[in-house]
Amino acid sequence: MALQLQRTARLLLLLRGSALSPHRSCGKMSTGARLRVLLDMDGVIADFEGGFLKKYRQRYPNEPYISLEERRGFWVSTQYGELREDLRDKAISIWESKNFFMDLDPLPGSVEAVMEMARMKNTDVFICTSPIKHYAHCPYEKYAWIERHLGPDFLEKVILTRDKTVVSGDILIDDKPDILGRTWTSTVVKRLNGR
Ligand SMILES: [Mg+2]
Repeated sequence: MALQLQRTARLLLLLRGSALSPHRSCGKMSTGARLRVLLDMDGVIADFEGGFLKKYRQRYPNEPYISLEERRGFWVSTQYGELREDLRDKAISIWESKNFFMDLDPLPGSVEAVMEMARMKNTDVFICTSPIKHYAHCPYEKYAWIERHLGPDFLEKVILTRDKTVVSGDILIDDKPDILGRTWTSTVVKRLNGR
């Protein structure tokens, strides 16, 4: 995903001169206008899958697991539940744990790609991320992660929402295959990392 994100950053430079967008456009983009880019966090700049597998294997060393190469589908919990019914809840327990989101590594090259986008002329980059419903740790840790890896200035650019379709922007870069919500529904957002 990170390599794709780097390519996307460069693609955005080219797109500044056109009215096209690489993914679902959630607003009008006109030549010369400011471009608002909404960047997903997990699976786009933070290595959710890698962080999950590492902590799952640490906590459940005797349970079966799914390697990154064998991962299929967007939802980790769904595939673990298919592997064995009770593994679904064990998977969920991992990302509901303290420090799960804080400890995620940035995907290689992703921080550089975000900074490159943020430096682009007439471009505003926001981190648009959906916290899990188990809110004890996740929202705080997402802010802390952003401060640690992207710097304190990016704390002004954080949007936490369960429905990304209510946020106005020109481009949403997200690994989720279907973005569903109240304002618009997209099934054409490209899955960039094959999850
Ligand atoms: Mg994501």
